[in-house]
Amino acid sequence: MKLYELTIHEALNLLRRREISAVELTQALLDRIVDVDNDIKAYITLLPETALEEARLADERRREGMDGALLGIPLAVKDVICLAGAPTTCGSRILENFIPPYDATVIERLHQAGAVFLGKTNTDEFAMGSSTENSAFFTTHNPWDPSRVPGGSSGGSAAAVSADEALGALGSDTGGSVRQPASLCGIVGLKPTYGRVSRYGLVAFASSLDQIGPLCKDVTDCALLLHVIAGHDARDSTSWHAPVPDYTQALRSEIKGLRIGVPREYFAAGIQPGVETAVRKAIQVLADLGAEIAETSLPHTEYALPTYYLIAPAEASANLARYDGVKYGYAAADAADIWEAYRKTRQHGFGAEVKRRIMLGTYALSAGYYDAYYLKAQKVRTLIKQDFDRAFQQFDVLVGPTSPTVAFKIGEKIADPLQMYLSDIFTLGHNLAGICALSLPCGFCDGLPVGLQISGPAMGEEIVLRVAYAYEQATPWHTYKPALRNLSQNEYQMDKEHRR
Ligand code: GLN
Repeated sequence: MKLYELTIHEALNLLRRREISAVELTQALLDRIVDVDNDIKAYITLLPETALEEARLADERRREGMDGALLGIPLAVKDVICLAGAPTTCGSRILENFIPPYDATVIERLHQAGAVFLGKTNTDEFAMGSSTENSAFFTTHNPWDPSRVPGGSSGGSAAAVSADEALGALGSDTGGSVRQPASLCGIVGLKPTYGRVSRYGLVAFASSLDQIGPLCKDVTDCALLLHVIAGHDARDSTSWHAPVPDYTQALRSEIKGLRIGVPREYFAAGIQPGVETAVRKAIQVLADLGAEIAETSLPHTEYALPTYYLIAPAEASANLARYDGVKYGYAAADAADIWEAYRKTRQHGFGAEVKRRIMLGTYALSAGYYDAYYLKAQKVRTLIKQDFDRAFQQFDVLVGPTSPTVAFKIGEKIADPLQMYLSDIFTLGHNLAGICALSLPCGFCDGLPVGLQISGPAMGEEIVLRVAYAYEQATPWHTYKPALRNLSQNEYQMDKEHRR
């Protein structure tokens, strides 16, 4: 048995029965990282000493008769989430040497549950991107084909889980950054309802859209992680007071009679034919399981992208104003005065995409253009939300593709921002509406994984997880793993080895 191949729930069973120790498990993951991460490049920072120490403490806690929802489980964390004492770079030069003095609330909760932190994973700079190519440090490779991107911006987290370099991971999703990389790497990723998970300690990109979410090998693991990180937090005024259900209780494979809507706009031009085929087959599986499927419409879908690219950059331009070389990270040397210090710091500290967003956002908010752009976008945001509200009066969940294509080649879209933005065309709307959505593997196209997106109303995580679980139990996709053989030779093969 290869310990690094275990799911979280499988590992928990073995740990609870004392068949393995947390130290053994953590060591197996650290060895795995040494074996494959030179090629995958999922991690920016590795934390082997603290991870082993946390694992040792977890074993001790267990020996003393204590348990925890994730006691001894090694996880990876996207490098936009603060973990005290370890660098949090956000994939940016401007925070290259920034070490937060405090933990994000999600980290605190995972700690209490007994999790072990292996390291911080690569991301597009400040989570702006869909491929990790905007990372200031390096691009992460897709474990299914190293010449391709893992998606983004949580591409490091997705690749780490897909390549068995972590049992699970945290990502952040502002417009698709958990779901799209999950889809491209063949794993499960969940964007919770806005306010379900505290954003305290998540470095802000677009505060009205950002949510932290789990990336996992299967739906059960997603439910386990969500259960630990969800819930009200006095330090995030936008977090909901709603009680946190035991999400694993929602995992019943029965979906007979559930009403599932298929928005026709999600099969519009631009979708890769092999992706459409896989998703249509998945919908047939849901029908065979007894769900009632009907076509529906989200008429404002085409405005999601322009709306998002006004609101997200507007918020980013304000959020990123704090990086001026005075308090955080990089500060330009040899500036004649304070203005030159600000200018040089931001000029050298930020990459091209971040600067593009700051300019777009500043423009959209500027006097004279505010009404035409930012205010108009907010109105359209309401229309997009109302589309979903109407759909969820009729349907329990909606389904469609997560991403219009499978993983694309490294370099293919980086010179054309609009092409890159289009990668999130099916995921942006859920952030604008503040609702929840999950991506899970539903087949392959040209040997690359395809993701099925299941979305639900605000606080509808239970129903989304239930449908996802039913589909997962009826299909083999979550048991396929990338082979990772001869990585450096750029070869890849689909490994049909069954995970369990
Ligand atoms: N790809 C989208 C963007 O670049 C979404 C990113 C995200 O969800 N963090 O803004």
